[in-house]
Amino acid sequence: MGLLDGLEIFGMDGSNMGDLFSDQKKQPTVQRTGAPVVHKETETKEEDLLLAKKTVCPVCDHEFKTLTPKSGRVRRKESDRDLRPRSVGIDTLKYNVICCPMCGYAGLTQNDWFQNILRPQKPLIRAQVTSKFDPLSVRAAYGADVRKWSYELSIALHKLSLFNSMVKNAKASEKAYNCLVLSWLHRGWGEELREHGAEEGMQAKVRAVEEDYYKKAYEGLTKAMATETPPVCGMSEHMLSYLVAVMSQKFGKLEIASKLVATILVSQTAEGKVKDRARDLKEELITQIKERKQM
Ligand SMILES: [Zn+2]
Repeated sequence: MGLLDGLEIFGMDGSNMGDLFSDQKKQPTVQRTGAPVVHKETETKEEDLLLAKKTVCPVCDHEFKTLTPKSGRVRRKESDRDLRPRSVGIDTLKYNVICCPMCGYAGLTQNDWFQNILRPQKPLIRAQVTSKFDPLSVRAAYGADVRKWSYELSIALHKLSLFNSMVKNAKASEKAYNCLVLSWLHRGWGEELREHGAEEGMQAKVRAVEEDYYKKAYEGLTKAMATETPPVCGMSEHMLSYLVAVMSQKFGKLEIASKLVATILVSQTAEGKVKDRARDLKEELITQIKERKQM
């Protein structure tokens, strides 16, 4: 998979962007499938949990409205163990991105990354994004009658955001988090496909892409942990360590995960909830390491 496959719909070509974290220059992906989004968990409809919020593009000053979850209405569920947020009746992550329908500048709402573009980065966006961007390509997201977004649409916009972050030479943490959200979105999409009984081939494809973005996120977060000063991606040092520990465990790097967990557990400043999660993870790691030695 190319991380930026499918950007042609926006007028971009992501095939020559180089490596994501090497030293600024990279790539993204898009797919198309049908099933409409239906959440049956409660009577709450996704569109009722969203509002159209006025936004001003920091690159071209265009004013437009973008869908955003109503914070007072959304009920949180327990997050996944890797901190992926979950809510009742809506996957709020889908709306974690903003794209200016005029100039094509896109970014995550997380940490105000969309708004916080630096002055020297703007000409890069104009030259490499706006010059090729087709405003009609985001009509499905920014049309006046649009009430909610599908996973496919949100994923496409997050790829455009990743492309923008590469163009503007964003920090490793910003690009890594974008990949993490893309991975989580594929997880959410996979759950939806399962719920709708989609064919296994499609589900497997989505799982594979989830994994690809997860690897990239892991690579970038590991790099950010070593080179950036906390908070990174809005996370405390210990929260980030916990997240990277969970990801390390997933990729079979049990020793790295154990070391990270140990630093959290001996820390005087780690938050209680992070320590609780770290303790659970430690138990699992002890068992896994034992099993591995017996093999
Ligand atoms: Zn704009």
